[in-house]
Amino acid sequence: MAEKHPEPNSERSKTPLLGTVLAVQANYYQVKIDSGWENSSETPNPGKFDAESNNAKLLCTRRARLKKIGQQVMVGDRAIVEEPDWIGGRGAIADILPRETELDRPPIANANQILLVFALADPPLEPYQLSRFLVKAETTGLDVSLCLNKSDLVTEQQIQQWRSRILSWGYEAIAISVRTGTGLEQLKDSLRDRITVLAGPSGVGKSSIINYLIPNVNLRVGEVSGKLSRGRHTTRHVELFELPTGGLLADTPGFNQPDLDCSPEELAFYFPEARQRLESDTCQFSDCLHSDEPNCAVRGEWERYEHYLDFLSDAIARQEKLNQQSDRDEALKLKTKRGKSQYEPRLETKKYRRPSRRTEQQKLEELYQDSDL
Ligand code: GDP
Ligand code: ZN
Repeated sequence: MAEKHPEPNSERSKTPLLGTVLAVQANYYQVKIDSGWENSSETPNPGKFDAESNNAKLLCTRRARLKKIGQQVMVGDRAIVEEPDWIGGRGAIADILPRETELDRPPIANANQILLVFALADPPLEPYQLSRFLVKAETTGLDVSLCLNKSDLVTEQQIQQWRSRILSWGYEAIAISVRTGTGLEQLKDSLRDRITVLAGPSGVGKSSIINYLIPNVNLRVGEVSGKLSRGRHTTRHVELFELPTGGLLADTPGFNQPDLDCSPEELAFYFPEARQRLESDTCQFSDCLHSDEPNCAVRGEWERYEHYLDFLSDAIARQEKLNQQSDRDEALKLKTKRGKSQYEPRLETKKYRRPSRRTEQQKLEELYQDSDL
């Protein structure tokens, strides 16, 4: 269909509508229009979600200009909408505001945080699994928060023990129970006016939480639960659910052991305990991997150091495998150095260089891929 030419002096161009893309389906975008936007002189603020907004949703196409410049529209995008047809519920996306964050798979723009859900019991809370999820979540670059569900199944003392243990890892966990209602107000507060991506292993109560937060989403939660519909986990179906108290929630399927794929060098930065040590002290070697190097600031008496070493050996093995592939691919002469710095030259290659922060954010895709294993 032919695009109309823009009308530069029209009333419309002075008062653009701004909204948030909630769902993408084929070439259509469901955009929730901010209320009162047209009267506001406020600067557009990507990632901010207006809790007062009404329910004006328009099914929009993407302007040809955006297609031409290859500008994709993602769920979570802040979109400038033109030519609203309020009766027909249609509109056209003329532009996208700069993104604050961007996840690749699932494609979600402007997410603020990842909320990890674990259960205190049934299934039992496994520190190693929790640690893996936390590190994986950290690789996205988003804020990471944690809630521990099913607090009704354990004693108050057990709850406090877990909370202080996890606090020593650098995380303040909220203990909740969907069954009894404990902690749910605090959970709601932590989601208010933010775009949150929910993740965690299956059976911990994620569907129950969504169900509680968004009562009218019932049917969809059934679809999401993972056991019923694996197909739902594909990126095509990414959708943001509106929380009645303001904010948006993206669900994820359950997954059991997320695959870590960060480089050995960056791993330490995904442990708050190690980060904290590196802030106040430095290692003797700038390329220290904090395993057995002398005068290391990170090695020491912190509980998850064992997890760090374990993930590190995985990361080194993966890096070496990549390097071998890279050697074959590029027929490069391997510059062998002594010890574990062997793989370092490879990090400089175009293909395997240290990823940018934005790329790191895209790693959330692993959370989704793993669920289909
Ligand atoms: P999901 O796989 O993470 O989506 O978990 P579900 O929401 O399907 O919940 C798994 C099971 O845990 C269900 O049988 C729920 O009824 C139960 N469950 C969820 N929340 C709680 C809770 O707070 N306490 C208890 N005791 N059971 C819960
Ligand atoms: Zn070190």
